[in-house]
Amino acid sequence: MDLRKAYDTVEWGFIEEILSDLGFPSHFTHLVMTCLTTTQYSILINGVPTPLLHPKRGLRQGDPLSPFLFTLSMKYFSRAINTVASHPPFRFHPRCKLLHLNHLCFADYLLMFCKGDPKVVQLMFEGFATFSSSTGLQYLGVPISPWKLKGSECDIMIDKMVARIKKINAICRSFMWFGNFDDSRPGSVARDKVCNPKACGTMGFRKIVLWNQAATDWSQFIASNYASWVVSLVCMVKKKCSGKLQSSEWLNKSRYSIKEMYSDLSDSQPKVHWHNQVWNRISVPKHGFILWLYMLNRLNTKARLFRVGVCMDNLCAICGANEETILHLFYKCKFSTNCKTSII
Ligand SMILES: [Zn+2]
Repeated sequence: MDLRKAYDTVEWGFIEEILSDLGFPSHFTHLVMTCLTTTQYSILINGVPTPLLHPKRGLRQGDPLSPFLFTLSMKYFSRAINTVASHPPFRFHPRCKLLHLNHLCFADYLLMFCKGDPKVVQLMFEGFATFSSSTGLQYLGVPISPWKLKGSECDIMIDKMVARIKKINAICRSFMWFGNFDDSRPGSVARDKVCNPKACGTMGFRKIVLWNQAATDWSQFIASNYASWVVSLVCMVKKKCSGKLQSSEWLNKSRYSIKEMYSDLSDSQPKVHWHNQVWNRISVPKHGFILWLYMLNRLNTKARLFRVGVCMDNLCAICGANEETILHLFYKCKFSTNCKTSII
């Protein structure tokens, strides 16, 4: 299950109540509530900010306090669902009986387990409804059904997972180039140049889709004509990788390694001689990143920015005497030569 706009819908009254019930000092609760309730928003419409809006509920996205407050709300959920398990008609899922497990939470994702019996499912749902009415959090996503889900009923979940993977990719890309999570401008280096082993002169990020294929331990499956959609899907991936598995290198392996399959699935790129100088444990990540752009000749020097029409001139920002090329910036500029002589 996924919660609808989990952060934006948490009731403030509930947060206050749970803080005081958990025994936090009233002064502390008051400080937290002041942070929450004094939030104001303004929307940019055609570049003009609207008058301030005063929300009535919800946690602020990006506020370091929010995840902790949200976790407290989910703690309440845990308690409510555990209470459900103590009601006599409740039956655990056969595989969760030993552990007395009826739910798992990860951030705003919930997994609920119980016996596939309509009465028991109803009981679980009532537990969730109690939680929902107190916190303001509502359920979204996968249809609840006491029966085995059909393939078509899982479409929504697949769509959401695919959307989530795309979103993760976009956030990583935006954060890497612009330091925030929602910038769609292109970065200085193409995505393919970022997602390959570092030895090939890239950032060493992984391609999530390929990693996912490699992580599917499908080698056990043999599809029959009556195979379900899951098996068919797995076998589709199997087809993609079958060439790899038939090679003598793979046939002689005693265990399946996701990492090895991933590197087999990835296109092999030529290695570069400088990767250890750029990516190593002692260099500061920021410096490594600048050095990496330098090696790819993608550093945004003024000469480069002038060429694409971003800058009015191409002169060095430090000495102002010469064109600001990579060569000038690192070797020829008065400032960098002074720097080097004072260090050496
Ligand atoms: Zn200079």
